[in-house]
Amino acid sequence: MQLIDGKATAAQIKAEIAQEVERRKAEGLKVPHLAAILVGHDGGSETYVANKVKACAECGFTSTLIRLESTPEQPLDPAVLMSEIDRLNRDADVDGFIVQLPLPRHIDEQAVIEAIDPAKDVDGFHPVNVGRQSVGLPCFHSATPAGIVELLRRHGIVTAGKRVVIVGRSNIVGKPLAAMLMQKGPQADATVTVCHSATPELASLTCQADILVAALGRPGFVTADMVADGAVVVDVGTTRVPDASRKSGFRLCGDVDFDTVAPKCSAITPVPGGVGPMTIVSLMLNTLQAAKNRD
Ligand code: NAP
Repeated sequence: MQLIDGKATAAQIKAEIAQEVERRKAEGLKVPHLAAILVGHDGGSETYVANKVKACAECGFTSTLIRLESTPEQPLDPAVLMSEIDRLNRDADVDGFIVQLPLPRHIDEQAVIEAIDPAKDVDGFHPVNVGRQSVGLPCFHSATPAGIVELLRRHGIVTAGKRVVIVGRSNIVGKPLAAMLMQKGPQADATVTVCHSATPELASLTCQADILVAALGRPGFVTADMVADGAVVVDVGTTRVPDASRKSGFRLCGDVDFDTVAPKCSAITPVPGGVGPMTIVSLMLNTLQAAKNRD
């Protein structure tokens, strides 16, 4: 069984990006600049944004973090967020930016996503980028699926001709990953099945997978009886489970019951240290591409 080390792969890619940034500087080209808007104080979002800012430093990028206060007592006026997005859309120094999700419930997330200039949408969530991806045109790919595809590629795991089963059909993981893997071309050409909460006899489908992707947010959901011998298993789940023995008070749990599933697999991603670090790296690659698009 091969343990797919997303952390080491991500470190390698960040080093490659940093080298490219140095080359850009030597050629008098712009240093990529990523901005992030963080609304309120969601614990998970704070961590994700801090990791993105750290990754920018590792890649040699400029980063800007914009914090907008929002509390249940004093919720942020959505117009303030929209005006900040408009400002970043027009800021010539910013190559790409993200609005960290989820947003407080009173803010319409889809309206926020659609307000971002698709040319700066390095999360790849704008319908223009989603549509371009689905017809195979150059675009900013959604970060988590792009990270998974790159992780498989760098570990020599071929998808062409393989049967891929994805559990989860969200707009940020399941759907875009299915669209990427079913495209014609290298590191795609897979036969993809997408499952969700209304899929009957789920295990009969997951057992047919050469490559099984679990992206449902249910800790330990995928058990050994749901996995074929020799399958590749990609665990996207990252649920915070209370754990009094940890300083943080929680631990991250994947959607796969790792201890029972791993012995059956030819390869598997751990949680943490699998897909998560690759998601951030994809955001860095999209930001580098955004800067190149503007050279
Ligand atoms: P989401 O929007 O909540 O979608 C979950 C999907 O799983 C839905 O399509 C849902 O079906 C399906 N589902 C839920 N329960 C199911 C069941 N019992 N059987 C079959 N399908 C079921 O979640 P998401 O945003 O895609 O995230 C999924 C997980 O990945 C979460 O743990 C999240 O934290 C993690 N994640 C990790 C990264 C990373 O970088 N590592 C990035 C993104 C997300 P319906 O559509 O029918 O409701």
